[in-house]
Amino acid sequence: MSRTIHIIGAGLAGLAAAVDLTTRGENVVVHEATNVAGGRCRSYHDASVGMTIDNGNHLLLSGNTSALRYLRTLGADHRLMGPPNASFPFVDLESGEEWTLRFNKGRLPWWIFSSGRRVPGTHAVDYLSIARLMWAGHDSSVGEVIRFSGNVYERLVRPLLLAALNIDPAAGSVRLAGAVIRETIAAGGQACRPLIAHDGLSAVLIEPALAFLAQRNAPVRFGHQLHALRHSGSKIDALDFGAEDIRLAPQDVVILAVPPYAASSIVPGLKTPTEFRAIVNAHFRVEPPPSQPPIVGLLNATTEWLFAFPGRLSVTISAADRLIGEPREALARKIWSEVAAVTNLPDALPPWQIVRERRATFAATVEQDALRPDPKTEFRNLLLAGDWTNTGLPATIESAIRSGQRAAALVERI
Ligand SMILES: Cc1cc2nc3c(=O)[nH]c(=O)nc-3n(C[C@H](O)[C@H](O)[C@H](O)COP(=O)(O)OP(=O)(O)OC[C@H]3O[C@@H](n4cnc5c(N)ncnc54)[C@H](O)[C@@H]3O)c2cc1C
Repeated sequence: MSRTIHIIGAGLAGLAAAVDLTTRGENVVVHEATNVAGGRCRSYHDASVGMTIDNGNHLLLSGNTSALRYLRTLGADHRLMGPPNASFPFVDLESGEEWTLRFNKGRLPWWIFSSGRRVPGTHAVDYLSIARLMWAGHDSSVGEVIRFSGNVYERLVRPLLLAALNIDPAAGSVRLAGAVIRETIAAGGQACRPLIAHDGLSAVLIEPALAFLAQRNAPVRFGHQLHALRHSGSKIDALDFGAEDIRLAPQDVVILAVPPYAASSIVPGLKTPTEFRAIVNAHFRVEPPPSQPPIVGLLNATTEWLFAFPGRLSVTISAADRLIGEPREALARKIWSEVAAVTNLPDALPPWQIVRERRATFAATVEQDALRPDPKTEFRNLLLAGDWTNTGLPATIESAIRSGQRAAALVERI
């Protein structure tokens, strides 16, 4: 008898699970609480700037193997754009220095021996501290393992870990920092090429998945919020959507791919991360200068990363809880003054928007990482997915997609 896999949540975790399962010929239904797919990774039309923008700039790297597999399945991998090599231009706003970090392709890091490729003001030996992050005990914080000074820290480790972990790096979990280093810098430049969804997050990562599911008769039911699960013994036997109850057949399976705060209210007693960190994005409607690189790192500035899109410059600031209460216009002016300094654009503030995602990711501390559950639950036909489940990675697109693909693989064993 054929079974139905009910996937709750049409974020990247839920969509990745749905894509893999339909590829294997399973019957899939996706239930999404809101009227749009994509969750924390989506585009929308913004009236202030009069254009479609993303809720936040999202950077992928060529070493994000699960995300790239997802996009290849959808035939959308060519829609991610980036430079041919792993190069990252940086500007230090305080000193005025500019440099480009250039990783070499292979695993052997000879870039650290080349003064034209490594961080200025560093020596090859300084980079040993990065390796220490991969071998340290898992229940340490980054601050307990490496020294928090010097140019390798300030100009490479700090910006990388702040962006990847979305937390002040000193407080970050070494297990998560080590995983990031292993899958990026330690894997060589071939894994570090920056990749950006130039046409927008939804056009590249979400809409192709919705089209793929539609072609395979896998419905996505929007405005369909799961309120509760009903169970008898060790099996979920009904889904409560408020106005509608769906009774499950004995062979049906549920993948819960909602954020942690929603999961813990749906599955009482479920252990989940409870602390979060914000990300702030500023978007400016302005044509970037023709020579503007797709992404630039800023140091000694409020702005951390500056992204260039057609008709728009956008800024990302991680672990940005300190900025949540700042008056919006003052914040926009402060960020624009930095952007104008780097791009040589006029000081006058162009049309702008500030997007503050308060619960952008769980806080990547040792304690919160320990609260992440494995995908299997006490119920035989209930699996979990989401960037916050125990993937061994910080909360990223790669973690979300990997968790969805992992849940899809586990369905085969039920
Ligand atoms: C501003 C910002 C910038 C970021 N930058 C990057 C980056 O540069 N690189 C990177 O790799 N990652 C980045 N991330 C992280 C990345 O966006 C997330 O890790 C990823 O999108 C999480 O996907 P998810 O499917 O696990 O969860 P979500 O996207 O939260 O999806 C969960 C879905 O479940 C739905 N839902 C909730 N409750 C219910 C219910 N009861 N019933 C039905 N549906 C429900 C929600 O509406 C949502 O659609 C960023 C995140 C933010 C917010």
